[in-house]
Order: sequence, then C-alpha cells, then structure tokens
Amino acid sequence: MPAIKAVTVFGGAASGLDPVCRETALALGRGLARAGITVIFGGGSIGMMGAVADGALGEGGEVIGIIPDFLARREIAHTSVSEMIVTDSMHSRKRRMFELSDAFVTLPGGLGTLDETFEMITWRQLDLHSKPIIICDAGGWAGPFLALIEALIAQGFAPDHARGLYEVLGSAEAVVARLSELPAIEEATAVSRL
Ligand code: AMP
Repeated sequence: MPAIKAVTVFGGAASGLDPVCRETALALGRGLARAGITVIFGGGSIGMMGAVADGALGEGGEVIGIIPDFLARREIAHTSVSEMIVTDSMHSRKRRMFELSDAFVTLPGGLGTLDETFEMITWRQLDLHSKPIIICDAGGWAGPFLALIEALIAQGFAPDHARGLYEVLGSAEAVVARLSELPAIEEATAVSRL
C-alpha cells in the first residue's frame, strides 16, 4: 500500500478541445485505482471530473464524490461512485476534500479548477498544511498558469519559494509514479485555522 492513500483530483467541468486532456483524466483515474489510491473529486459526471472517476471505477477503484447540493443537478452528479458526500456549500465541499486527502492533483480545467488549485497552494504558503500538490500539465495546459506565478515572482508579489509549493508533471503515469513514492505526511493539519 502507498503512504498516500487518498488524493483529491481537481479538473474541469468541460473536457477542453485537446483530446489528450480527457485521455489523461481517464489514465489518471485508472492509474490511481491500480495503485490502490482512493480518488476524491467534485462529484460530477461531466468533463474532466467525470473522466477521472470513470477511469478509476473501470479499474474497480474507490471513488468519493463531494458535491454541494445546489450543483448536484447542474453538474449531473455521478451515479456510480463508491460514496457521494453532499455538502451545503462550496466552502464546506473544499474543506471536506482537504480533510479527506493526502495530496492534490490538478488536471486541465477552467476557473473553478484554478480557484481550487490556488486555494490549496495558498493554504500551503500559509503553512496550514504540507500536503503535496501536483499539477498535471497535459497538453501544455499549465503553461499560462505557471507563467502567471513566474510573473508574480518577477514583480515581487510572490516569494521565490512559491515555486516549491507544487510540482509539475507531464503525464498521468508520471503523477501516479510520484504519488506512489511520496512519504506519508507526519504533522497534524491545521484544519481549525482554515
Ligand atoms: P471549471 O474548472 O471552471 O470547469 O470548474 C471545475 C469545477 O470546480 C466546477 O464544476 C465546480 O464544481 C468547481 N468550482 C467552480 N468554482 C469554484 C469555486 N469558486 N470554488 C470551488 N470550486 C469551484
């Protein structure tokens, strides 16, 4: 069993235009299931979210969806997951995702995906946790995101060590290999300060 037992995967409610994005989401789900790592995700059946869940479920993996009640219809809640947790707000959803996972992986996505990823990065910047954050750069999606962070560092708005708050890997296979070798997080997480 890997030390990392459960991973929250953030990703778009759309699949994007480049087919490699959806293929990567499916491959990530499959790879996590084969590695015995539980997939936690936004609970929708559509886009990148649905693909990562479908990939894991197809390999018999454990998949936990976490969705706010108001989004369950709009994002067509997945009906085949191992467990669906319904929350009363976006904030309680994000907090529950945070509590249940040992690490975070970002797949290509839109504004919601950026919000979720930046929140995990900024919580780490504030030393509220030290859980690994991996950005999967499928199809070059992460380029502008990383360039934005570089611009913030160059302008003196983010510290140089901001680059060390996350890792960037190019494929689903590389992400699963990295998660499989990561050690367990030892320290208690400051959930009460979130
Ligand atoms: P998007 O990347 O914009 O396709 O959004 C992906 C998913 O992130 C959405 O389907 C929502 O479930 C979620 N999301 C959107 N906005 C937010 C937000 N402000 N905070 C947390 N999650 C969000």
